[in-house]
Amino acid sequence: MPLVVQKYGGTSVGDADRIRNVARRVVATLEAGNQVAVVVSAMSGETNQLVALAREVGGEAPSAREYDVLVSTGEQKTIALLSMAIHQLGHEARSFTGAQMGMLTDGDHSRARIQSIDTEALRRVLERGEVAVIAGFQGTDEEGNITTLGRGGSDTSAMAVACALEADVCEIYTDVDGVFTTDPNVVAGAHKLERVSYEEMLELASLGAKVLQIRSVKFAMHYGIPIHVRSSFHDGEGTWVVREEDVMERLVVSGVTYNRNEAKVRVLGVKDSPGVAATLFGPLSASGIVVDMIVQNLSQDGTTDMTFTVPRDQYAQALALMEEKAPAVGALRVEGDQDIAKVSVVGLGMKDHAGVAARMFEVLAAEGINIQLITTSEIKISVVIEEKYAELAVRALHSAFVEQGAAEPQAET
Ligand code: ASP
Ligand code: MG
Repeated sequence: MPLVVQKYGGTSVGDADRIRNVARRVVATLEAGNQVAVVVSAMSGETNQLVALAREVGGEAPSAREYDVLVSTGEQKTIALLSMAIHQLGHEARSFTGAQMGMLTDGDHSRARIQSIDTEALRRVLERGEVAVIAGFQGTDEEGNITTLGRGGSDTSAMAVACALEADVCEIYTDVDGVFTTDPNVVAGAHKLERVSYEEMLELASLGAKVLQIRSVKFAMHYGIPIHVRSSFHDGEGTWVVREEDVMERLVVSGVTYNRNEAKVRVLGVKDSPGVAATLFGPLSASGIVVDMIVQNLSQDGTTDMTFTVPRDQYAQALALMEEKAPAVGALRVEGDQDIAKVSVVGLGMKDHAGVAARMFEVLAAEGINIQLITTSEIKISVVIEEKYAELAVRALHSAFVEQGAAEPQAET
């Protein structure tokens, strides 16, 4: 019998009516001849409220252990309510907290990593034809402490459960219709993608398409479980996230994304000698600062400029560290800029098409947008530009690549 794992996000279980609606879907899937395990988030707004309460009572740095005990309660409410709603429809359902289902994690509170799942209890329930209703976002460490997986972590719980149960599909029910070619709030012509590869989804997710937590995609990719991102408000198909071989149409550009959460740091006039990069980037990494793009340019006089980007909330710290290290590498000065945006185009088809970067630069030039930094990977090109041009750049690139298919191979003459 096929085994389906479904995950419902906060909006989909946002009130009693919506929970009943989810119960109907779950029961329909069950009655269609599937085993069904459901992973749920807290009702929308609930986790934010709990986080705010923790700060109000516990100060800026509340105990990490108690914080997780508190914020994990949102999901516990949802599993009980959803189980009740399924009972009302005449089916058996049993709720599981992270601990009850044997979701073992490390002890790193509020960003715990899953180590193993004991599927025995879940399987017993599923084999009896009952629904297993599982609390997302939470687990338990070796000592029995409650842990949480980081904001948006229910996606990762769902995918981990799907992998452990070797499910046929992991359906992610959300309040949007699927994965879009770009942010529909910025570009009216944005449309839903039918299929994307895990690799594309990882790029889209890490670049700020907020549909799926990145770690969850990595799980699914590793185990080859197909993901179906779809709306919980209607029955229409959403977006399938699948293996590269299963993507029929390899789009040159499948998505255009932007990210305003980075800042740029430049260390100017650095000695061009071995060990310089290590001297600068070692301390950043030791302080847990996540460096994204790095560009080094050599100038005529044998010195170089090091430019890199970091998350905006680590900008001040990164700048201070660079000021501190500057003398050791003979740097002239350190500069920074927070008013930047990273705009990227992503697509599997870039692997077989040359000229995407050149076309991207032309499109931006035609809008008078100056490019400050560039990085590329096999299926992505990112540029850093002035923040105020972010939406203009996204619209122009989406129009050129997605709406007009500018990168289609030219007919040979
Ligand atoms: N409730 C948690 C959050 O809001 C986990 C989740 O919804 O995925 O981050
Ligand atoms: Mg989410």
